[in-house]
Amino acid sequence: MENLWIGGDRVAPASGQYTALIDPATGQEWARVAAGNAADIDQAVQVAHQVKADWRRVNSRDRTQMLNRLALLIRDHLDSLATLESRNTGKPIREAREEVNLAADCFEYYAGAINKVGGQTIPVAAAGTSFTWREPVGVCGLIAPWNFPIAITAWKVAPALAMGNTVVLKPASQTPLTALRLAELAIAAGIPAGVLNVVPGSGSEAGEALVKHPLVRKVSFTGSTTIGTHVMQLAAEDIKRVTLELGGKSANLIFADADLDKAVLKAMWSVLGNAGQDCCARSRVLVERPIYAEFVERLTAAFQTLKIGQPLDEATEIGCLISAQHRDRVAEYIQLGQTEGATLVWGGGRPVSDELATGAYLVPAIFADVHPEMRIAQAEIFGPVVCVLPFETEAAAIAIANNSVYGLSGSIWTQDISRALRVARAIETGVLSINTGHSVHLEAPFGGVKRSGLGRELGLAVLEHYSELKSVFIAE
Ligand code: NAD
Ligand code: MN
Repeated sequence: MENLWIGGDRVAPASGQYTALIDPATGQEWARVAAGNAADIDQAVQVAHQVKADWRRVNSRDRTQMLNRLALLIRDHLDSLATLESRNTGKPIREAREEVNLAADCFEYYAGAINKVGGQTIPVAAAGTSFTWREPVGVCGLIAPWNFPIAITAWKVAPALAMGNTVVLKPASQTPLTALRLAELAIAAGIPAGVLNVVPGSGSEAGEALVKHPLVRKVSFTGSTTIGTHVMQLAAEDIKRVTLELGGKSANLIFADADLDKAVLKAMWSVLGNAGQDCCARSRVLVERPIYAEFVERLTAAFQTLKIGQPLDEATEIGCLISAQHRDRVAEYIQLGQTEGATLVWGGGRPVSDELATGAYLVPAIFADVHPEMRIAQAEIFGPVVCVLPFETEAAAIAIANNSVYGLSGSIWTQDISRALRVARAIETGVLSINTGHSVHLEAPFGGVKRSGLGRELGLAVLEHYSELKSVFIAE
């Protein structure tokens, strides 16, 4: 039984309630986790509030060393953390290992930023000296999703701690385990008790209580646009700072002059990584008409070689989805696409294998002849489903790409550098990649426009969201 983590200790939930975690690969219960509620959130926030002043006083060298030690401890526990993550989410163990490493990289990056980011002196007109201090915001309420649990937790916790804030983290109710381990490792790294607290629980109870708590000064939320909208409304009550990383329906634009061998493989992986449960999934592939038929054919051939298998199997390329319920929701979209008149070229069913019969598996699906207005071309399906749409001109490709309420990421494939830059400027997203499918470099800012979010994570850009600028003037 997993308890809450408050003030450097395992704490039983106020309600006495525990919820079952279901292994998505078997459908069997495999762990029980405390269901935190508003009382637990209040306790955790009070503790984070109490230690806030002490944590702020820790000097920059000591804080840097603590975050670096945490990164090393994460690497020391790479195998156990990756295994836990893989079992919990159903993602391939190889992907889980990369994400645990990314979490360690993230703590190292922000450890290094601590003594390099500060305020300014400003040449004001008045006689005297004007300068700014970059101060911590205070207690930060961090809310994480289930798709990349430890990685996204690190994206939030590392910069929050680096800037001298204290934290109450609410992991996704499905995936609380690696966050709880991380909090234990933080104590081993020398980070004082109470600086990082973890309260697993439902979004509607624990999550909402965290967003509403008057002692929480900042909320950083990653999840769906629907819940993000609600979080922003709740945060408005007392003008809490909010960062939102929300949904996406990103476009991958492939022009006829693209390196097709590369483009096909990357197009596949930039939608199928984490079985498509990725906010950055390029789930709309827009292909220039002269190469459309060939592209669909080659993409289908590539999908046919995918190794769908058990998450912990080293050879597995596509694991299972987060739950049977989510698999069924994705399957409904596959049904809908056919009803809407798109052509299901490949996949979409359950794999035929006794070994995979009880898990939340789905064979990745390709839809061709998709019209931009179809619901499968508009909704974030959040599963292994790709829509391939033809386009005739550069202007049409841009219009289709921007025909979305979302604006997170996207890719452009062409050998023509001028066109690449022209199209990159015209696409309404926060992140773009040219001739690759990459979304995340932890040194560079990451985030969305339109309904994909507010603010930026990663890079030095996020530090601004975990600090307040105080402007001080000394008269001479
Ligand atoms: P979700 O919105 O259902 O839940 C996200 C988190 O919010 C969970 O911890 C959940 O418990 C909590 N929550 C739910 N209701 C709440 C409430 N009323 N108040 C406060 N917290 C609440 O999202 P999900 O299903 O866990 O994750 C999938 C979604 O996340 C997708 O839309 C995906 O695009 C998005 N996502 C975005 C990014 C990004 O960086 N832009 C990254 C990963 C995932
Ligand atoms: Mn959800």
